[in-house]
Amino acid sequence: MSRPTIGVLALQGDVREHLTALAAADAAAAPVRRPEELAGLDGLVIPGGESTTISKLAVLFGVMEPLRAAIRGGLPVYGSCAGLIMLADKILDPRSGQETFGGIDMIVRRNAFGRQNESFEASVEVAGVEGGPVEGVFIRAPWVESVGAQAQVLAEYGGHIVAVRQGNAMATSFHPELTGDHRVHELFVAAVRAAG
Ligand code: GLN
Repeated sequence: MSRPTIGVLALQGDVREHLTALAAADAAAAPVRRPEELAGLDGLVIPGGESTTISKLAVLFGVMEPLRAAIRGGLPVYGSCAGLIMLADKILDPRSGQETFGGIDMIVRRNAFGRQNESFEASVEVAGVEGGPVEGVFIRAPWVESVGAQAQVLAEYGGHIVAVRQGNAMATSFHPELTGDHRVHELFVAAVRAAG
């Protein structure tokens, strides 16, 4: 598989930024909203945005169950920020009715780094990303409270887990799609190629 086809879940959030980053990382990227659009994808990105809204819209558009099944079936997925929350098996502080796709055995805390006005940038060393730390953009970012035995911690910041991988699923608390540095997307595209 030279140029994998990777969808970006386009219900809400920074879809365009992920499409741009994936194209730069040599993937064929396309927005995905409906269950039938999952067919033929080699991988899927869940963008940053608002996890409560993505959860609601995923149910409304009928992609909640199909996507859960696809992830269980091994579809490679990468989630940033709200996307990390959507990939967690458990949210510590969910809004009432808030659901996730799951896929990574981890417990996440929403808005853990503070509110919108406490957003910040920080250098983060990510396992598997060569060439020095990435600039992590944290916007009302979650952190990972704990991970299960199958999950691998890829990065920590301030003593908290901010990047995780388990099988074909990967997630970051921060937003590499906002920086113009495409190394995290390249890491995901390489994982997609390896899975294919
Ligand atoms: N705090 C948001 C949530 O709960 C995530 C913020 C983001 O994606 N930048 O979904």
